[in-house]
Amino acid sequence: MEKQLQALIDKLESENRLDREEWIRLIRGRTPKLAQYLFEKARKIRQMYYGTDVYIRGLIEFTNYCKNDCYYCGIRRSNAQAHRYRLSQEQILQCCRQGYDLGFRTFVLQGGEDGYFTEERMVRLIREIRKDYPDCAITLSIGERSYDSYLAFFNAGADRYLLRHETWDTAHYQLLHPPALSAEHRRQCLWDLKKIGYQVGTGYMVGSPFQTAENLADDMLFLEKLNPQMVGIGPFIPHHDTPFKDQPAGTLELTLYMLGLIRLLLPKVLLPATTALGTIDEKGRELGILAGANVVMPNLSPENVRKDYLLYDNKICTGSEAAECRNDLENRMHAIGYQVVSHRGDSLNMD
Ligand code: SAM
Repeated sequence: MEKQLQALIDKLESENRLDREEWIRLIRGRTPKLAQYLFEKARKIRQMYYGTDVYIRGLIEFTNYCKNDCYYCGIRRSNAQAHRYRLSQEQILQCCRQGYDLGFRTFVLQGGEDGYFTEERMVRLIREIRKDYPDCAITLSIGERSYDSYLAFFNAGADRYLLRHETWDTAHYQLLHPPALSAEHRRQCLWDLKKIGYQVGTGYMVGSPFQTAENLADDMLFLEKLNPQMVGIGPFIPHHDTPFKDQPAGTLELTLYMLGLIRLLLPKVLLPATTALGTIDEKGRELGILAGANVVMPNLSPENVRKDYLLYDNKICTGSEAAECRNDLENRMHAIGYQVVSHRGDSLNMD
Protein backbone atom coordinates (compact mmCIF):
# COMPACT_ATOMS: atom_id res chain seq x y z
CA MET A 1 0.00 0.00 0.00
CA GLU A 2 2.69 2.46 1.09
CA LYS A 3 4.77 1.63 -1.99
CA GLN A 4 1.78 2.40 -4.24
CA LEU A 5 1.22 5.73 -2.54
CA GLN A 6 4.92 6.55 -2.79
CA ALA A 7 4.60 5.88 -6.50
CA LEU A 8 1.71 8.38 -6.63
CA ILE A 9 3.90 10.99 -4.97
CA ASP A 10 6.62 10.25 -7.55
CA LYS A 11 4.03 10.67 -10.29
CA LEU A 12 2.84 13.97 -8.83
CA GLU A 13 6.45 15.14 -8.68
CA SER A 14 7.14 14.32 -12.31
CA GLU A 15 3.78 15.23 -13.89
CA ASN A 16 2.54 17.97 -11.50
CA ARG A 17 -0.95 16.55 -11.61
CA LEU A 18 -3.09 13.64 -10.45
CA ASP A 19 -6.64 12.61 -11.18
CA ARG A 20 -9.42 12.90 -8.61
CA GLU A 21 -9.28 9.25 -7.50
CA GLU A 22 -5.51 9.43 -7.07
CA TRP A 23 -5.77 12.57 -4.93
CA ILE A 24 -8.37 10.90 -2.73
CA ARG A 25 -6.20 7.81 -2.28
CA LEU A 26 -3.14 9.89 -1.45
CA ILE A 27 -5.02 12.00 1.09
CA ARG A 28 -6.85 9.11 2.75
CA GLY A 29 -3.88 6.74 2.81
CA ARG A 30 -1.37 9.11 4.37
CA THR A 31 0.95 7.82 7.10
CA PRO A 32 3.75 9.55 9.01
CA LYS A 33 6.29 7.71 6.86
CA LEU A 34 4.62 8.78 3.62
CA ALA A 35 4.47 12.35 4.90
CA GLN A 36 8.25 12.34 5.50
CA TYR A 37 8.77 11.01 1.98
CA LEU A 38 6.58 13.83 0.65
CA PHE A 39 8.23 16.60 2.70
CA GLU A 40 11.68 15.61 1.51
CA LYS A 41 10.58 16.01 -2.09
CA ALA A 42 8.68 19.22 -1.32
CA ARG A 43 11.78 20.75 0.30
CA LYS A 44 13.94 19.73 -2.64
CA ILE A 45 11.59 21.37 -5.14
CA ARG A 46 11.13 24.47 -3.04
CA GLN A 47 14.91 24.83 -2.75
CA MET A 48 15.34 24.33 -6.48
CA TYR A 49 13.30 27.49 -7.14
CA TYR A 50 13.54 29.57 -3.97
CA GLY A 51 16.68 28.25 -2.29
CA THR A 52 16.46 28.53 1.47
CA ASP A 53 14.97 32.04 1.32
CA VAL A 54 11.88 32.82 3.35
CA TYR A 55 9.82 35.74 2.05
CA ILE A 56 8.07 37.99 4.52
CA ARG A 57 4.88 40.03 4.13
CA GLY A 58 3.71 42.74 6.51
CA LEU A 59 0.08 42.02 7.33
CA ILE A 60 -2.06 45.06 8.10
CA GLU A 61 -5.47 44.01 9.41
CA PHE A 62 -7.09 47.36 8.80
CA THR A 63 -10.76 46.69 9.60
CA ASN A 64 -12.72 43.96 11.33
CA TYR A 65 -16.13 45.24 10.25
CA CYS A 66 -17.70 42.71 7.91
CA LYS A 67 -21.03 42.50 6.13
CA ASN A 68 -20.71 38.75 5.70
CA ASP A 69 -21.78 36.07 8.11
CA CYS A 70 -19.48 33.11 7.41
CA TYR A 71 -20.27 30.47 10.00
CA TYR A 72 -16.62 29.85 10.90
CA CYS A 73 -15.33 33.40 11.24
CA GLY A 74 -14.95 35.35 14.47
CA ILE A 75 -15.49 38.73 12.79
CA ARG A 76 -18.77 37.66 11.13
CA ARG A 77 -21.52 40.26 11.13
CA SER A 78 -23.65 38.44 13.71
CA ASN A 79 -20.93 38.32 16.33
CA ALA A 80 -22.16 41.09 18.61
CA GLN A 81 -19.30 40.34 21.04
CA ALA A 82 -16.61 41.39 18.54
CA HIS A 83 -15.04 44.71 19.39
CA ARG A 84 -15.07 46.50 16.03
CA TYR A 85 -12.34 48.81 14.75
CA ARG A 86 -11.16 50.32 11.52
CA LEU A 87 -7.84 52.06 10.96
CA SER A 88 -7.67 55.53 9.42
CA GLN A 89 -5.65 56.11 6.27
CA GLU A 90 -3.01 57.82 8.40
CA GLN A 91 -2.80 54.81 10.74
CA ILE A 92 -2.43 52.45 7.78
CA LEU A 93 0.33 54.61 6.30
CA GLN A 94 2.03 54.59 9.69
CA CYS A 95 1.98 50.77 9.64
CA CYS A 96 3.62 50.87 6.20
CA ARG A 97 6.30 53.26 7.47
CA GLN A 98 7.07 51.04 10.41
CA GLY A 99 7.02 47.97 8.17
CA TYR A 100 9.36 49.54 5.63
CA ASP A 101 11.86 50.37 8.37
CA LEU A 102 11.69 46.77 9.54
CA GLY A 103 12.57 45.55 6.05
CA PHE A 104 9.15 44.65 4.66
CA ARG A 105 8.72 45.17 0.91
CA THR A 106 5.21 43.72 0.66
CA PHE A 107 2.22 45.14 2.49
CA VAL A 108 -0.90 43.02 2.75
CA LEU A 109 -4.04 45.02 3.46
CA GLN A 110 -6.53 42.57 4.89
CA GLY A 111 -9.97 43.19 6.29
CA GLY A 112 -13.58 42.19 6.55
CA GLU A 113 -15.93 43.33 3.80
CA ASP A 114 -16.39 46.78 5.27
CA GLY A 115 -18.71 49.16 3.37
CA TYR A 116 -16.81 52.14 4.76
CA PHE A 117 -13.90 51.28 2.48
CA THR A 118 -15.63 52.22 -0.76
CA GLU A 119 -13.89 51.90 -4.11
CA GLU A 120 -13.01 55.60 -3.87
CA ARG A 121 -11.48 55.35 -0.39
CA MET A 122 -9.52 52.22 -1.32
CA VAL A 123 -8.20 53.84 -4.50
CA ARG A 124 -7.05 56.88 -2.52
CA LEU A 125 -5.32 54.66 0.03
CA ILE A 126 -3.63 52.45 -2.58
CA ARG A 127 -2.40 55.53 -4.51
CA GLU A 128 -0.85 56.98 -1.35
CA ILE A 129 0.97 53.75 -0.53
CA ARG A 130 2.11 53.33 -4.15
CA LYS A 131 3.43 56.92 -4.20
CA ASP A 132 5.40 56.52 -0.97
CA TYR A 133 6.65 52.97 -1.63
CA PRO A 134 7.28 52.48 -5.35
CA ASP A 135 9.57 49.52 -4.58
CA CYS A 136 6.97 47.59 -2.56
CA ALA A 137 4.24 45.17 -3.56
CA ILE A 138 0.72 46.04 -2.43
CA THR A 139 -1.46 43.03 -1.74
CA LEU A 140 -5.18 43.31 -1.08
CA SER A 141 -7.30 40.80 0.80
CA ILE A 142 -10.68 42.45 1.13
CA GLY A 143 -13.04 39.84 -0.24
CA GLU A 144 -15.50 39.90 -3.11
CA ARG A 145 -15.82 43.11 -5.14
CA SER A 146 -16.97 43.97 -8.64
CA TYR A 147 -14.72 43.55 -11.68
CA ASP A 148 -14.64 47.34 -12.05
CA SER A 149 -13.50 47.86 -8.46
CA TYR A 150 -10.78 45.24 -8.81
CA LEU A 151 -9.66 47.02 -11.97
CA ALA A 152 -9.68 50.42 -10.25
CA PHE A 153 -7.54 49.05 -7.39
CA PHE A 154 -5.12 47.52 -9.89
CA ASN A 155 -4.84 50.77 -11.82
CA ALA A 156 -4.23 52.62 -8.55
CA GLY A 157 -1.20 50.43 -7.92
CA ALA A 158 -2.27 47.20 -6.18
CA ASP A 159 -0.41 44.24 -7.63
CA ARG A 160 -1.54 41.16 -5.72
CA TYR A 161 -4.83 39.87 -4.35
CA LEU A 162 -5.55 37.11 -1.84
CA LEU A 163 -8.97 35.51 -1.95
CA ARG A 164 -9.29 31.98 -0.67
CA HIS A 165 -11.84 29.97 -2.61
CA GLU A 166 -12.52 28.28 0.80
CA THR A 167 -13.82 25.05 -0.81
CA TRP A 168 -14.50 24.18 -4.43
CA ASP A 169 -17.56 22.05 -3.73
CA THR A 170 -20.83 23.99 -3.96
CA ALA A 171 -22.66 21.93 -1.34
CA HIS A 172 -19.76 22.10 1.11
CA TYR A 173 -19.49 25.85 0.52
CA GLN A 174 -23.16 26.20 1.46
CA LEU A 175 -22.53 24.39 4.74
CA LEU A 176 -19.90 26.98 5.66
CA HIS A 177 -21.64 30.14 4.45
CA PRO A 178 -25.07 31.77 4.48
CA PRO A 179 -27.17 31.56 1.27
CA ALA A 180 -26.09 35.04 0.09
CA LEU A 181 -22.59 33.69 -0.65
CA SER A 182 -21.70 31.12 -3.28
CA ALA A 183 -18.67 29.12 -4.36
CA GLU A 184 -19.36 30.10 -7.99
CA HIS A 185 -19.24 33.83 -7.29
CA ARG A 186 -16.11 33.47 -5.18
CA ARG A 187 -14.40 31.62 -8.03
CA GLN A 188 -15.62 34.17 -10.58
CA CYS A 189 -13.85 36.85 -8.54
CA LEU A 190 -10.62 34.85 -8.79
CA TRP A 191 -10.92 34.55 -12.57
CA ASP A 192 -11.64 38.30 -12.77
CA LEU A 193 -8.57 39.11 -10.70
CA LYS A 194 -6.43 36.90 -12.89
CA LYS A 195 -7.76 38.46 -16.07
CA ILE A 196 -6.97 41.95 -14.79
CA GLY A 197 -3.37 40.93 -14.20
CA TYR A 198 -3.07 40.56 -10.43
CA GLN A 199 -0.75 38.00 -8.91
CA VAL A 200 -3.51 35.94 -7.36
CA GLY A 201 -3.55 33.93 -4.15
CA THR A 202 -6.25 31.47 -3.24
CA GLY A 203 -6.62 28.66 -0.70
CA TYR A 204 -8.78 27.07 1.94
CA MET A 205 -9.02 25.97 5.54
CA VAL A 206 -7.83 22.47 6.30
CA GLY A 207 -10.26 20.49 8.45
CA SER A 208 -13.13 22.93 8.01
CA PRO A 209 -16.41 21.45 9.30
CA PHE A 210 -17.84 18.67 7.06
CA GLN A 211 -14.73 18.65 4.83
CA THR A 212 -14.01 15.28 3.19
CA ALA A 213 -11.03 13.85 1.29
CA GLU A 214 -13.19 14.30 -1.84
CA ASN A 215 -13.51 18.02 -1.09
CA LEU A 216 -9.74 18.33 -0.71
CA ALA A 217 -9.22 16.43 -3.96
CA ASP A 218 -11.54 18.88 -5.73
CA ASP A 219 -9.61 21.76 -4.18
CA MET A 220 -6.41 20.35 -5.68
CA LEU A 221 -8.03 20.03 -9.10
CA PHE A 222 -9.19 23.64 -8.82
CA LEU A 223 -5.68 24.80 -7.87
CA GLU A 224 -4.33 23.02 -10.94
CA LYS A 225 -6.89 24.78 -13.15
CA LEU A 226 -6.51 28.26 -11.66
CA ASN A 227 -2.73 27.99 -11.43
CA PRO A 228 -2.46 30.83 -8.88
CA GLN A 229 0.73 32.61 -7.88
CA MET A 230 0.10 31.95 -4.16
CA VAL A 231 -1.82 29.41 -2.11
CA GLY A 232 -2.72 30.11 1.51
CA ILE A 233 -3.92 27.17 3.56
CA GLY A 234 -4.23 26.87 7.32
CA PRO A 235 -6.14 24.75 9.79
CA PHE A 236 -9.71 25.66 10.67
CA ILE A 237 -9.77 26.76 14.32
CA PRO A 238 -13.12 27.25 16.09
CA HIS A 239 -14.11 30.63 17.49
CA HIS A 240 -16.25 30.59 20.64
CA ASP A 241 -18.83 33.11 19.35
CA THR A 242 -19.63 31.39 16.04
CA PRO A 243 -22.02 28.60 15.02
CA PHE A 244 -18.97 26.34 14.65
CA LYS A 245 -17.74 26.86 18.20
CA ASP A 246 -17.99 23.15 19.02
CA GLN A 247 -16.50 21.83 15.81
CA PRO A 248 -13.06 20.20 16.01
CA ALA A 249 -10.06 22.15 14.73
CA GLY A 250 -8.14 21.04 11.67
CA THR A 251 -4.89 19.26 12.45
CA LEU A 252 -1.27 20.24 12.10
CA GLU A 253 -0.61 16.86 10.52
CA LEU A 254 -3.10 17.19 7.65
CA THR A 255 -2.21 20.86 7.04
CA LEU A 256 1.48 20.00 6.65
CA TYR A 257 0.64 17.11 4.36
CA MET A 258 -1.50 19.36 2.14
CA LEU A 259 1.31 21.96 2.04
CA GLY A 260 3.69 19.27 0.77
CA LEU A 261 1.19 18.14 -1.87
CA ILE A 262 0.61 21.71 -3.06
CA ARG A 263 4.37 22.25 -3.44
CA LEU A 264 4.53 19.23 -5.75
CA LEU A 265 1.42 20.28 -7.67
CA LEU A 266 2.58 23.87 -8.23
CA PRO A 267 6.37 23.79 -7.78
CA LYS A 268 6.92 27.56 -8.18
CA VAL A 269 3.98 28.76 -6.11
CA LEU A 270 4.33 31.04 -3.08
CA LEU A 271 3.18 29.05 -0.08
CA PRO A 272 2.81 30.73 3.31
CA ALA A 273 3.19 28.99 6.64
CA THR A 274 0.14 30.79 8.04
CA THR A 275 -0.68 32.37 11.39
CA ALA A 276 -3.31 29.66 11.95
CA LEU A 277 -0.56 27.03 11.58
CA GLY A 278 1.53 28.93 14.13
CA THR A 279 -1.50 29.06 16.42
CA ILE A 280 -2.23 25.33 16.59
CA ASP A 281 1.42 24.50 17.22
CA GLU A 282 4.22 26.56 18.70
CA LYS A 283 6.53 25.27 15.94
CA GLY A 284 3.80 25.28 13.28
CA ARG A 285 5.42 27.80 10.98
CA GLU A 286 8.85 26.13 11.11
CA LEU A 287 7.20 22.80 10.33
CA GLY A 288 5.30 24.48 7.49
CA ILE A 289 8.58 25.70 5.98
CA LEU A 290 10.01 22.19 6.31
CA ALA A 291 6.95 20.82 4.49
CA GLY A 292 7.54 23.08 1.47
CA ALA A 293 6.24 26.54 2.46
CA ASN A 294 8.36 29.63 1.68
CA VAL A 295 6.49 32.67 3.05
CA VAL A 296 5.55 34.01 6.49
CA MET A 297 3.29 36.96 7.16
CA PRO A 298 4.11 38.79 10.39
CA ASN A 299 1.56 41.18 11.81
CA LEU A 300 2.10 44.91 11.25
CA SER A 301 -1.23 46.09 12.66
CA PRO A 302 -1.06 48.53 15.60
CA GLU A 303 -0.66 46.54 18.78
CA ASN A 304 -3.87 47.78 20.41
CA VAL A 305 -6.11 46.32 17.66
CA ARG A 306 -4.38 42.97 17.11
CA LYS A 307 -6.45 41.14 19.68
CA ASP A 308 -9.64 42.37 17.96
CA TYR A 309 -8.90 40.77 14.59
CA LEU A 310 -9.87 37.49 16.16
CA LEU A 311 -10.88 35.13 13.35
CA TYR A 312 -10.51 32.16 15.69
CA ASP A 313 -9.68 31.48 19.34
CA ASN A 314 -6.16 31.97 20.73
CA LYS A 315 -4.87 33.58 17.51
CA ILE A 316 -1.22 34.40 18.15
CA CYS A 317 -0.60 38.11 18.07
CA THR A 318 2.04 39.07 20.56
CA GLY A 319 4.93 36.68 19.91
CA SER A 320 7.40 36.21 17.08
CA GLU A 321 4.66 36.53 14.46
CA ALA A 322 4.57 40.24 15.29
CA ALA A 323 6.52 42.26 12.77
CA GLU A 324 8.60 44.04 15.40
CA CYS A 325 9.96 40.64 16.48
CA ARG A 326 11.79 40.12 13.23
CA ASN A 327 14.88 38.97 15.09
CA ASP A 328 13.01 36.15 16.74
CA LEU A 329 11.59 35.09 13.38
CA GLU A 330 15.05 35.25 11.82
CA ASN A 331 16.46 33.10 14.62
CA ARG A 332 13.70 30.56 14.22
CA MET A 333 14.33 30.30 10.49
CA HIS A 334 18.10 30.10 10.93
CA ALA A 335 17.62 27.28 13.40
CA ILE A 336 16.06 25.17 10.64
CA GLY A 337 18.54 26.22 7.94
CA TYR A 338 16.58 29.00 6.23
CA GLN A 339 16.92 32.79 6.11
CA VAL A 340 14.46 35.68 5.98
CA VAL A 341 15.02 37.96 2.98
CA SER A 342 13.97 41.55 2.57
CA HIS A 343 12.65 42.04 -0.94
CA ARG A 344 9.29 41.98 -2.73
CA GLY A 345 9.46 38.23 -3.17
CA ASP A 346 7.43 37.91 -6.35
CA SER A 347 6.07 34.55 -7.37
CA LEU A 348 7.98 32.57 -9.95
CA ASN A 349 4.72 30.94 -10.97
CA MET A 350 3.89 33.59 -13.53
CA ASP A 351 2.60 31.68 -16.58
N1 SAM B 1 -12.70 39.30 4.05
C1 SAM B 1 -11.63 38.82 3.28
C2 SAM B 1 -12.00 37.54 2.56
O1 SAM B 1 -13.13 37.11 2.69
O2 SAM B 1 -11.19 37.01 1.83
C3 SAM B 1 -10.34 38.61 4.07
C4 SAM B 1 -10.46 38.31 5.51
S1 SAM B 1 -10.97 36.64 5.89
C5 SAM B 1 -11.24 36.77 7.61
C6 SAM B 1 -9.43 35.77 5.70
C7 SAM B 1 -9.46 34.25 5.83
O3 SAM B 1 -9.54 33.88 7.19
C8 SAM B 1 -10.62 33.54 5.20
O4 SAM B 1 -10.41 33.36 3.84
C9 SAM B 1 -10.68 32.23 5.99
O5 SAM B 1 -10.18 31.12 5.24
C10 SAM B 1 -9.82 32.51 7.23
N2 SAM B 1 -10.57 32.21 8.47
C11 SAM B 1 -11.70 32.78 8.90
N3 SAM B 1 -12.14 32.17 10.02
C12 SAM B 1 -11.27 31.19 10.31
C13 SAM B 1 -11.20 30.19 11.31
N4 SAM B 1 -12.13 30.09 12.26
N5 SAM B 1 -10.14 29.35 11.30
C14 SAM B 1 -9.18 29.45 10.36
N6 SAM B 1 -9.20 30.36 9.36
C15 SAM B 1 -10.25 31.22 9.32
